[in-house]
Amino acid sequence: MSKKEISKIKMIVFDVDGVLVPRGTKIKQTGNTTTLQTKVIAKKQIEQIKKLNKKGFLINISSGRGLYMMQEMFREVLPFTSLTYENGSATWYKGKIFQHVNSFETLHSMFSKLKKIAIKNKSVKGFEPKEFIITLHCKKRIKEIENMVKTNKVLATNWNGEAYDVEIKKDQTKAVGLRRVMKIFKLKRQNVMAIGDNYNDQELLKESGLPISADKTRVKGAFHVPLKGKFLPADILMQKILAL
Ligand SMILES: [Mg+2]
Repeated sequence: MSKKEISKIKMIVFDVDGVLVPRGTKIKQTGNTTTLQTKVIAKKQIEQIKKLNKKGFLINISSGRGLYMMQEMFREVLPFTSLTYENGSATWYKGKIFQHVNSFETLHSMFSKLKKIAIKNKSVKGFEPKEFIITLHCKKRIKEIENMVKTNKVLATNWNGEAYDVEIKKDQTKAVGLRRVMKIFKLKRQNVMAIGDNYNDQELLKESGLPISADKTRVKGAFHVPLKGKFLPADILMQKILAL
């Protein structure tokens, strides 16, 4: 990657899991008690984000996670960072919320149906608290859940290796989120660099002018950072940009 190649870039979009923090969310649900372990972002990444902002880059963090969790993780950089959450469903910026989709009517009845399956199935770990999508953590893929979601043609299940995101096809994607964010900040595709590591990032990366893959086996990019190594993908990318 050269300085010229990033000369038009005004915003950098980061996926969270597997990019800014290691992969994996710990969740346990017993009856009405949900235990959720929040991952902390390393001080080093916070400092790198601050430096990028000082260099004039806008920062957008796009995740399948809920807003409350992202605010907790990125507290220190919130004054200049926009958060796009629940796979493009909404964006938070400086205390203001831009809702990109209304999934209530579509998902309302599906939630109770999935809850019934979840209660009986020992491979289900629990529902992660979300506002616009349904996230169901499981030890492995469960056919019964996939089949139930299929009964509604506009819904899709996206399995990421540890959980299902149940969401409205085409409406609840990180790509939709990015398109809205680009409008908010009046940016064009060529002004945006995006980095992601998972299947749900493919559309996000395609939407950006400069896509960076953090896992070549799952997503394609113009550039990629190696998956294995002692630095997180976002760390390597930020080191590179800051050095240019
Ligand atoms: Mg990820």
